[in-house]
Amino acid sequence: MKIPLVDLRAQYANLRPEIDAAIAAVLESTAFVKGPAVGEFETAFASYCEARHAIGVGNGTDALRLVFRALGFEPGDEMLTVPTTFIATTEAISHVGAVTRFVDIDERTWMFDVEKAAGHVTDRTRAIVPVHLYGHPVDMDAVNAFASQRHLAVVEDAAQAHGARLRGRRVGALAQAGTFSFYPGKNLGAYGDAGAVVTNDDDVAERVRMYADHGRLDKYEHRTEGWNSRLDTIQAAVLAVKLRSLDDANAERRRCAQRYNDALGGIDALEFPVLVDGAEPVHHLYVVRAQNRDALRKHLGDQEIATGVHYPLPLHLQPAYRHLGYARGDFPVAEALADSIVSLPCYPELGDTDIDRVVDAVRSFYDAP
Ligand SMILES: *Cc1c(COP(=O)(O)O)cnc(C)c1O
Repeated sequence: MKIPLVDLRAQYANLRPEIDAAIAAVLESTAFVKGPAVGEFETAFASYCEARHAIGVGNGTDALRLVFRALGFEPGDEMLTVPTTFIATTEAISHVGAVTRFVDIDERTWMFDVEKAAGHVTDRTRAIVPVHLYGHPVDMDAVNAFASQRHLAVVEDAAQAHGARLRGRRVGALAQAGTFSFYPGKNLGAYGDAGAVVTNDDDVAERVRMYADHGRLDKYEHRTEGWNSRLDTIQAAVLAVKLRSLDDANAERRRCAQRYNDALGGIDALEFPVLVDGAEPVHHLYVVRAQNRDALRKHLGDQEIATGVHYPLPLHLQPAYRHLGYARGDFPVAEALADSIVSLPCYPELGDTDIDRVVDAVRSFYDAP
């Protein structure tokens, strides 16, 4: 039997009656845009994130660009982020006319490194966009302290970290604003594209809501040109159902990660990321560095075990960013990581027997006892 990287079919099977009823209720109501399920989900998600506001939007990329616009960033402004994220983070920076300045990641945590950031701040730098990659919290206390000394805004990209905590508090609500993606494979996934902005700032919340809905003040009065990026009612209804079991699903991911850690921890050919102090991760992905990574992936693939690489080419080396003038060697930690990481199957429905099958396959590759 094949072990996939994520199993959305098994997830639906577990929730089917509630999901089907929620979708049917929207169909009956015909309130496909701005239906009551949207506000209900926003309230529930804000409370889940322990934040004042959650604004549902079209997807996680739009969530970022809406926040950047709401914070007033302009062409020529510079934002600091990591080269080891999905391109959406930097696309959103470019979409408001700002410029991405990459900062190499920390060797131990594989996350945003404030020590290295100092060398990249210029008089045009306006913001930091830390990414809670793989569901591992960034040290936001360090990032916020660094940013406030230099009067920089901070926007958390929490697209992979729904429910993660840092020192007791939910990520996404630890800075000016946080953004979430509800892409189907994310820890909280819709049945299509969807996203949200979370913030404790009333002003940012109001502006994001306005920009996401054609710059509207009311139906036919527009303060400015905005976008059409509202959270779809059917997606909100699906998300409201799934949100109820998000903590349970994250606990199952933790079970998977713990089982891998216990079983693989002694293998010298593997290297594991170190969590920042006080982090409670939600393991969107289970990622390790592996010697002979590509041969290991082939070995697992031959046994019908899916693996991934998140992500194989750091953003500063992508063709899309050639114009920024970066070259190989600029961010050695990120580059070495991209060449050696592998993502193993880790999702709530993955049973212990299957985890053990993955473990046995990894051990047999390295000939571990
Ligand atoms: C998924 C993801 C996004 C973008 O979300 P979409 O909903 O696909 O637009 C942004 N940042 C990170 C780190 C992501 O993983």
